[in-house]
Parts: sequence; structure tokens; C-alpha cells
Amino acid sequence: MNIKISEILEKIINLCFPMTCICCESFVESEGLCKDCWDKIHWLSEPICEICGKQIDAEVKICSECIRQKPIFDKAVSVFSYDAFSKHMIVNFKDNDCTYLAPLFAKWIERIIKKFSYEIDVIIPVPISFKRRLLRKYNQTELLAYELHKLSNIKYEPRSLKKNKDTLNQKKLSKKLRLKNLAKSFEIVPEYKSNIKDKVILLIDDVITTGATVNECAKQLKNAGALKVYVATIARVDLHNF
Ligand SMILES: [Zn+2]
Ligand SMILES: [Zn+2]
Repeated sequence: MNIKISEILEKIINLCFPMTCICCESFVESEGLCKDCWDKIHWLSEPICEICGKQIDAEVKICSECIRQKPIFDKAVSVFSYDAFSKHMIVNFKDNDCTYLAPLFAKWIERIIKKFSYEIDVIIPVPISFKRRLLRKYNQTELLAYELHKLSNIKYEPRSLKKNKDTLNQKKLSKKLRLKNLAKSFEIVPEYKSNIKDKVILLIDDVITTGATVNECAKQLKNAGALKVYVATIARVDLHNF
């Protein structure tokens, strides 16, 4: 008999506290989603724009928006589409204290960051304002970035980028107003500038919509000397679906 005590204990714990799907709460054998919910998620896969990560037609490599105006970040990737189905998980993670989702989301992000061509030096979460942190009690992107650091052993640096003003909720704004709203809202903390200069940065956010937020962060990071700024998010809003 070659059964480890830890395996027996795990079986007993699973019997007493059965695991449930993070989406519909039906019982599952391993952490994550049940088969039905897994199939309902729109996992993002090729063909996607080589720069912004948006799903595109197979004939092109870069989407029309990135051709019209190349983003400041070098490349962005996301795990799944933010739609009527996946929205529930993201809202729970962001606003309903479901912080236990962070390790699982980080595991999914770890799989897709292999698409980046340069080795990453530092993981930086998109910051939130002091006021928002007080209201929410946590920054969900910090939790994601920290879990990703634990999985990948890449340095985690949450102090070098700061949000210095509480901006309006981006969701309700047009692209033009989003840019205006975000202008000068992020800044580099001078004491930690050495963590950015000549480094390949991985910026972590929960959802990418127009890309205005991560682009503004990338602008500050590149102004401070970052070599490359990659972006990884758990979800991506396809504006055509909304
Ligand atoms: Zn389910
Ligand atoms: Zn693009």
C-alpha cells in the first residue's frame, strides 16, 4: 500500500467539505469550474491580435485599431471573454469579497503569459486609489499579481506604480472621455523607480476593455525606463458584444 497520509486527509476533507464550481456551485471533483460552466466560458484563443489580444479574423495578424494607433504597451493577453456568463465570476472577485478566486485565476494567467517573447523581470498590479481601496478593503489585481508571483517566482512589485486620483468609473465613459479621465491619474513612486528602469514588466489587471487604463500605466512605466510592458488580464470585454 502506497497511499500517503496527506492524500487520505485530502479525501476526508473533500468528503466533509465537498468542492463546488466557482460559477454555479454544483459539486466538482477538482478546484475550478464544472464541465457545463467550462463549456460556457468563451476562452480566448487564436486568432487574436498580436498586440492587444482581441479576437480577430484569421487573415490578419494585427487588428485595425492597433494599426490605426499602436498601443504603448507591447502586448496584451487575456484568459476569457467578459460576457453575460463570465461577468458573474469577475463581479464576485472584484466587489463581493470572493478573494479565494485569485489563486485559480493566477493559474490560468500563468498559462497564457508563455506567449510573451521576453523573460519577465517584474510583475506589477494596476493600482487603485486610496479611497477605492478603503471602500473595497482589497485590490483584486494585487491579489492576482501576488498569486502569479508565487506560481512563477517572478519578482512582485506593488509599490512602484501609484494611482493618485480617484477617477470616474470607466465603464460608463466613451473612449475619448476614458482617456481624459485617466490622464495623469497614475504616477511612478520615485523610491522604487529602480525596479522599473531597464526591466521587462508584466502589468496585471482583472479586465481589459478599451485598454485605456493599461495604456496609461504603460506610458508611465516606459517614461520611467521600462524596456517592455506586457499586459495580462483574466477577462477581456469584446465591445461588439455589448
Ligand atoms: Zn458550474
Ligand atoms: Zn489589436
